[in-house]
Amino acid sequence: MTVDRKVRVAVVGAGPAGVYAADILTKTEGLDVTVDILDRDPTPFGLIRYGVAPDHPRIKEIIKALKRVMDNDDIRFFGNVNFGTDVKLEDLREFYDAVVFATGARRDRDLDIPGIDLHGSFGAADFVAWYDGHPDVDREWDFQPHAKQVAVLGVGNVGLDISRILAKTADELLVTEIPDNVYEGLKKNATTDVHVFARRGPAQVKFTPMELRELSHSPNIDVIVHPEGFEFDHGSMEALNAAKSQKLVVKVLQDYLAREPSGAPHRIHIHFCQSPVEILGEDGKVVGLRTEVTELDGTGNVRGTGEFRDWPVQAVYRAIGYYSDPLPGLPFDEAGGVLPNDGGHVLDLDGSPIPGVYATGWIKRGPVGLIGHTKSDAAETIRMLVEDLPSLPAPHYPSREAFDRHLDSRGIEYTTWEGWEKLDAHEMALGENDVHTRERKKVVPRDELVRIARG
Ligand code: NAP
Repeated sequence: MTVDRKVRVAVVGAGPAGVYAADILTKTEGLDVTVDILDRDPTPFGLIRYGVAPDHPRIKEIIKALKRVMDNDDIRFFGNVNFGTDVKLEDLREFYDAVVFATGARRDRDLDIPGIDLHGSFGAADFVAWYDGHPDVDREWDFQPHAKQVAVLGVGNVGLDISRILAKTADELLVTEIPDNVYEGLKKNATTDVHVFARRGPAQVKFTPMELRELSHSPNIDVIVHPEGFEFDHGSMEALNAAKSQKLVVKVLQDYLAREPSGAPHRIHIHFCQSPVEILGEDGKVVGLRTEVTELDGTGNVRGTGEFRDWPVQAVYRAIGYYSDPLPGLPFDEAGGVLPNDGGHVLDLDGSPIPGVYATGWIKRGPVGLIGHTKSDAAETIRMLVEDLPSLPAPHYPSREAFDRHLDSRGIEYTTWEGWEKLDAHEMALGENDVHTRERKKVVPRDELVRIARG
């Protein structure tokens, strides 16, 4: 045991990273701690609710484990509380011994090529937020009736998610939790062919095998791997020998390559060694994508060949990685898109640790890795926090009620765990009573989420 007082910790961000951090903290032997998890969403679970695709119920099952963590009197949830406006770091310092930031990464990394701002050029993160019913995005997606050929840039799992959602029919997704506005929107999606572009070769894709295999499970989709660029250099062979999962991914790609299309109405094409260099436009609208053909350079990286291809597509989605929002009052590492930190201890601009301030999850190490990876991440961060506790000053107002009073005095309409349970039951009832009975139907508008949660 490191301190003899009752310790109070605030976690900012109620996604898996934040919930795992709270779990590890409350299970730390000899530590008497209570944790408050704050989130700007009125609902908990962050990227699981608003990032995992609706047709991935298996991944959404993680929510069950997170619920078990939250079913603990020592952990409270405060939703609809925006860090930076509703509460600032200096406020939190008044009430907590330490603050852990687990705010994740929600927006698209920029792609600086000509035409990126054309009408019909989209970021994957925006599309994901729309189809997952995030309250803060427009209810309508800008599907154009003429956009039958669509490009997706990037060969990670987000690229797979959006390709699958674009290629599936709206009715296929009706068994999921999608809200009505998303179903109505998807009915306007005219896409027949999704062209996914990898700037490197098959051994360098970031897909995971199960997700890649799953692409072909829809009867409406043929997956077509194009032979051009389907090549392996020395670096590729090394990568395949080093990682069994990468070998499996390539095996799935080879199976697709060898397969005859079944004549399904929609196709997902995967193209290798094509690096996007320009989005082509006419009258402000996307009419094509220009790629430079690349070749592997022996190390698994590529160089341009000076040969260019134009692809007639009417929409482009970039899925080249997420990027975190900087946090007000905290330093930010622009290059990595993270809070500068040493093993989770947030560092000041001069590289010195900021007392009592920590980071975990994607805001700590960047937007890579599966949900489970945030557990080991949280363990490292919490180990540091616990070690530092004896040297940290106690907060001025350590009682739980003091923080509640603070939020109330500012008129913040926060939601609680009990509120989430009400909303959860409400969404499940909506699903059950829907003409197409399903497990849940999501509520979208923020005011409605807050109203239901606050009873
Ligand atoms: P990611 O795995 O890092 O993939 C990003 C892709 O974008 C890579 O193929 C990358 O190619 C490409 N890229 C980057 N810059 C580019 C550029 N300028 N031009 C062309 N291509 C470019 O990122 P993600 O797909 O956003 O996924 C983030 C994390 O979430 C991953 O760990 C992923 O597995 C996880 N996730 C999992 C699921 C699931 O269902 N299990 C679903 C969604 C996300 P290079 O490799 O050449 O840089």
